[in-house]
Amino acid sequence: MCLDNKQQMPRPVRYPYLQQVPFSEDQSHIQQSTAVIFNIQRFSVFDGPGVRTAVFFKGCNLRCRWCHNPESYEKRPQLAFDKQKCIGCGSCVENCPGGCLLPDPGRGLVYDRKNCRDCGSCTRGCYARALSRIGYEITAEELMEELLEELPYYRESGGGVTFSGGECMLQLDFLEEVLLRLKDKGIHTAVDTAGNVPFEDFERILPYTDLFLYDMKAFHEEVHRKLTGVSNERIKDNLVRLAQAGKDIRIRIPVVEELNASELPFMKRFLWDNGIRDIELLAYHRMGVGKGDLLLEPIVQESFRELGAEEMEEYNSSSDRAAHLLRG
Ligand code: SF4
Ligand code: SF4
Repeated sequence: MCLDNKQQMPRPVRYPYLQQVPFSEDQSHIQQSTAVIFNIQRFSVFDGPGVRTAVFFKGCNLRCRWCHNPESYEKRPQLAFDKQKCIGCGSCVENCPGGCLLPDPGRGLVYDRKNCRDCGSCTRGCYARALSRIGYEITAEELMEELLEELPYYRESGGGVTFSGGECMLQLDFLEEVLLRLKDKGIHTAVDTAGNVPFEDFERILPYTDLFLYDMKAFHEEVHRKLTGVSNERIKDNLVRLAQAGKDIRIRIPVVEELNASELPFMKRFLWDNGIRDIELLAYHRMGVGKGDLLLEPIVQESFRELGAEEMEEYNSSSDRAAHLLRG
């Protein structure tokens, strides 16, 4: 292997997902120009044009029944526990200043979240790496440093940086600052959002965002509420206003046959009526099922049928036909 060739060198991963990351002792300064994120994915080719770096923010204000990133629900960092790796040494229980951890013969550990100070003693002392932290605080400067490492790849491929989550727009000050810095460097930016924020928040980042990857889950309000826990009135309204502002928008619709397949024609008709043509259907997959169990505050996830490529193609064309009929 030629070590002079940067492309062939193994790249250090500074914040490996689901592995141990040091806690900061004082969490009170998690505010402007810092954010809590849970992953930086390099060389992504699915989140906008070219080769991209995708940054996943923690915190979301939807609760989609099929969510494959339940560890992103809460903004705060959370503890994950892998019972298979636990050697029962008791170090975490002993070192916890809040007395929040207790050994449990069945589950391995019992966790008292309300007394947890997020101090990180438990993860630092777990040499078996059974306990880890999901989510970490990062400053705009630190993130920029990481993102700029891939600058040659962005330039060569027409790629850039995509902000995702969770809902990245819930940490708006930070997002705005990093978008502005990226645009200063001439880097393409994309924001992946569910759109459930005030339109004023969009207005703040419009000048620095080249592409919105906008999620749509259902057309009818009552269906949307059942699937995500929230109304979609603001989401649809924001989308119409974004389209009117002339922004590049790619709609991404997760297709979960049992839940929203019947909504597809209505969504497509709504999008066409508002001049939005870039629509991508994403097949539900079960890859994320089980992640919720890893959290020390477990989240129960549902499982649905996965659709194959041919079935997705059929849904795509049949929903187009049905949307045409709805138009009359
Ligand atoms: S410190 Fe780690 S290995 Fe030891 S009991 Fe706690 S979780 Fe298990
Ligand atoms: S992070 Fe929470 S559970 Fe872990 S040692 Fe600190 S107080 Fe205890």
